[in-house]
Amino acid sequence: MSRKPIIVGNWKMNKTVAEAVEFINTVDPHVTDKATFGVATSFLALDASVKNAKNLIVAAQNCHFEDKGAFTGEVSVPMLAELGLKYCIVGHSERRQMFGDTNETVNKKARRLIAEGITPIMCCGETLEQFEAGETENVVRTQVREGLVGMCPKCVSNLVIAYEPIWAIGTGKSATKEIANATCGIVRSEVENLFGAETATKVRIQYGGSVKPENIKEYMAEEHIDGALIGGASLKADSFIAIINAID
Ligand code: 13P
Repeated sequence: MSRKPIIVGNWKMNKTVAEAVEFINTVDPHVTDKATFGVATSFLALDASVKNAKNLIVAAQNCHFEDKGAFTGEVSVPMLAELGLKYCIVGHSERRQMFGDTNETVNKKARRLIAEGITPIMCCGETLEQFEAGETENVVRTQVREGLVGMCPKCVSNLVIAYEPIWAIGTGKSATKEIANATCGIVRSEVENLFGAETATKVRIQYGGSVKPENIKEYMAEEHIDGALIGGASLKADSFIAIINAID
């Protein structure tokens, strides 16, 4: 079965509302139907981005799992749903490392998103230390297993899981296509163990970590890689358009 590729720029803490709108108005006409293409903007830029994007999908970068209450600085899933969002990143390694996200909170966030009809892009990936110690498989299987607790097979088949080795994020040191594919294959096999072969065949798995116009094609040719989550190379319109044009 063929999975429609999904390529999302994760802008992290970059771009004002005006900059986001300018980017979207420049890039949107170049979007093709070869993949789902999108950008994950700051919370502030989501509304204007959704209103301006005709072809790009717009994603949030995080959410809280409670609907409302005394959680200063947080944004709830109903607040995102009100804007018409269809995707939200959860469990990015920067949030796990700097803002206390755990497999358990990532799971709660993802479940709340699914209940609201928003597709989680759930991130996993090992540190350099874990990679060098040969712990990648164990770390990633645990993140996937604990991140997917309590979900139904159909929900998981609609999910996007992003494998992002932390040592390849923003370092220019991308994982080889063989390593990226092997670990995305581990993600798929863990989904199969937990939810069965049909779900594992449908779930879309992205690779992320120093993806750019020059290397995206080689990742996309790999069996288990269904897309990319792209940081630095998604920030400039020219570069994003080159990424779109690389997918044929
Ligand atoms: P870079 O593409 O800048 O390495 O970032 C990857 C990433 O963290 C996307 O979520």
